[in-house]
Amino acid sequence: VTVRDRLAAPGPHFSVEFMPPRSDEEEASLWLAVRRLEPLQPAFVSVTYGAGGSRRDRTIRITERIATETTLLPVAHLTAVGHSVAELRHVIGSYASVGVRNILALRGDPPGEDVTAEWVKHPEGVEYAEELVALIKRLGPFSVGVAAYPDMHPRSPDPQSDIEFFAAKVRAGADYAITQMLFSAQDWVGLRDRAASVDVDIPLLPGIMPVTSYQRLMRICELSGQKVPDDLAARLLEVKGDAAAGRAIGMEHAIDMARKLLDEGAPGLHFYTFNRSKATVEVLEALGWAPTPART
Ligand code: FAD
Repeated sequence: VTVRDRLAAPGPHFSVEFMPPRSDEEEASLWLAVRRLEPLQPAFVSVTYGAGGSRRDRTIRITERIATETTLLPVAHLTAVGHSVAELRHVIGSYASVGVRNILALRGDPPGEDVTAEWVKHPEGVEYAEELVALIKRLGPFSVGVAAYPDMHPRSPDPQSDIEFFAAKVRAGADYAITQMLFSAQDWVGLRDRAASVDVDIPLLPGIMPVTSYQRLMRICELSGQKVPDDLAARLLEVKGDAAAGRAIGMEHAIDMARKLLDEGAPGLHFYTFNRSKATVEVLEALGWAPTPART
């Protein structure tokens, strides 16, 4: 089964993203989230690809375990950072050998936290995600996803070039795209319309995560290089220090945005979980996609 098949079935769908855990404790929390979300039948679960060797090994191990020990469909993220083409082929081959046929092809960011740091291609590697998409497609019958940026990617010179580079990834064979974390349904609508203007009609899954504190929102925007959503930032700033109030605002904002996205025709919702299930399950409950627990 591929993500392409799953998304072709009547929707809307939801999917979730996990990160490779850094410790045994984090790993336990990841498996708890996996087991809680499994009965809700996400279309797929994706596992991000880290910057360093040991985290990369964990990505591969976790993805394989999801494939072999759960009923879930795993999608392995793969980045071009620090890899030669031979190494990329090797990683792709090792996924194929355990039946993982779904890959999210990314260029990746330069190592470190500075999103503006210079990107340096591996001398025998690839420059853009587009080439990684083409490489994966040449190696076998993989379903390949790519990243999309409602705000445009921070390194793109202007929105038009950004969408044209995105279209090139689709022409190279991308079957669907997942957006960077969104804070407004209108941003997704803008991306969808720009994509349509360059004849791109693959499913564009909006990325969602309830952001429950001002500090966290600022940190996410800093790390991803995206614009701070002023309205949400102002609401969270007003309750800074009050965790419960921040959580209520973050949840309400995410649920409201999810409803608007579905009204606008989004083919599904992709949840950034940070390896926890609670917030995702709450949004799904609010949408009527998960049984609401009986309250006594
Ligand atoms: P590309 O599509 O290659 O684009 C990179 C930049 O190059 C853009 O500015 C683009 O406009 C420009 N460009 C593209 N083609 C050309 C061209 N032909 N000529 C000139 N310029 C061009 N990072 C990780 O490290 N691990 C992960 O697991 C991970 N998962 C992610 C999941 C999602 C859903 C998203 C949205 C991002 C994820 N990222 C991850 C972050 C991602 O790696 C970075 O945002 C990275 O900077 C860009 O990756 P890309 O695949 O979009 O790159």
